[in-house]
Amino acid sequence: MEIDGIEIDAARQQQAREYARKRRRISYIDMAIAAAGIILILGAGLDRWLRNLQQSAVGGVPILGWQPHPGWYPLQILITFLILMIGYQLLTLPLSYYGFTLSRRYGLSTMSLKGWIMDLLKGFVLGLVFEGVVIMLIYALLAYQPQWWWLWVAIVLLFFSVIMANLAPVLIFPLFYKFTPLPEGELTERLMALVARANTKVRGVFTMHLSNKTTAANAALMGLGNTRRIVLGDTMTDRYTVEEIEVVLAHELGHHVHHDIWKLLISQSILMLGGLFVANLILHWVVEGLHLYTSLTDPATLPFLFLLMGLFGLIVMPISNSYSRRVEYQADEYALQSTQKVAAFKSAMTRLANQNLAEIEPSPLVELLFHSHPSIRKRLQHADEFASRGELAATPSVQP
Ligand SMILES: [Zn+2]
Repeated sequence: MEIDGIEIDAARQQQAREYARKRRRISYIDMAIAAAGIILILGAGLDRWLRNLQQSAVGGVPILGWQPHPGWYPLQILITFLILMIGYQLLTLPLSYYGFTLSRRYGLSTMSLKGWIMDLLKGFVLGLVFEGVVIMLIYALLAYQPQWWWLWVAIVLLFFSVIMANLAPVLIFPLFYKFTPLPEGELTERLMALVARANTKVRGVFTMHLSNKTTAANAALMGLGNTRRIVLGDTMTDRYTVEEIEVVLAHELGHHVHHDIWKLLISQSILMLGGLFVANLILHWVVEGLHLYTSLTDPATLPFLFLLMGLFGLIVMPISNSYSRRVEYQADEYALQSTQKVAAFKSAMTRLANQNLAEIEPSPLVELLFHSHPSIRKRLQHADEFASRGELAATPSVQP
């Protein structure tokens, strides 16, 4: 398949299929480890054993018995949380390392072992802090609002994710990547022209220095309000034509014009609300119906809560991915309409497939479950459809 001199590299596609297969195997094993761990904990009663152990230690370490509300022991919950998170991280460490060696072997990762360890540690600590805050909040609300905690959690999480979406580009991403404003030049001029035509405002365009970590190209719309920005990987700015980058920028601008960050935040919150509501019913049933735990805030309920969260994630994944694919399709449509550059769109997609080792045509089931973007094959077809539509529509409005 040839597009203006750039074609899908058949040998790279062979590698892409292999790589994707191995990557999926890693995720399956990861899920299996998590599932087996939780089942073992629940089946062997390790959840209640750990709670009893902590309760019996209260005599020696009185602070463990700190109880702001009857039956709510924040410190015991925190300790249980840390044990579960660190245990999972250690159990899956060989798998994470294998994933790193794999991306190096396929020429995608350019990171040193030290750099990889640093990023892993940073990610782990950030996860501990954010997830820890959420877990502590859930149990506090379970203590004070046992009937309505799920609604409160959903509301607080929505606020939390709005704040995080605002802060992430200035607080979180810079921990992992260096950003510099895109230098003034032809690219910024073209973008400003697109922005002016769309009658909108964009706070900034940044280069994201990906090349010291990966050979893959990427671009994104980030932030909310005063931190809203378009970012382009330096792995793209250094080897794509100006027209190709313009189409990519137009795609990101499409997300901006369509308010996609808000749409994703709201849709995730609605799904989360549904999940929390079901979790509420199940928790009340196992505590009050089956008497498996002493109360809703029993620290021993945490592994069970993790199980519910994992199941929720599995059920929600195909739903949010199919929503995301729709949003991406619309951003592509916007890029094609606003630039009218079908050839540049197709060559950018082709370059992306070759460079990022992206499977252009994953099996329909794999695409349905795991892919947040339409396959490259479908995106190329979209451009062709647009071109055939465009010829018809453009006739009456040809400009000199
Ligand atoms: Zn997109």
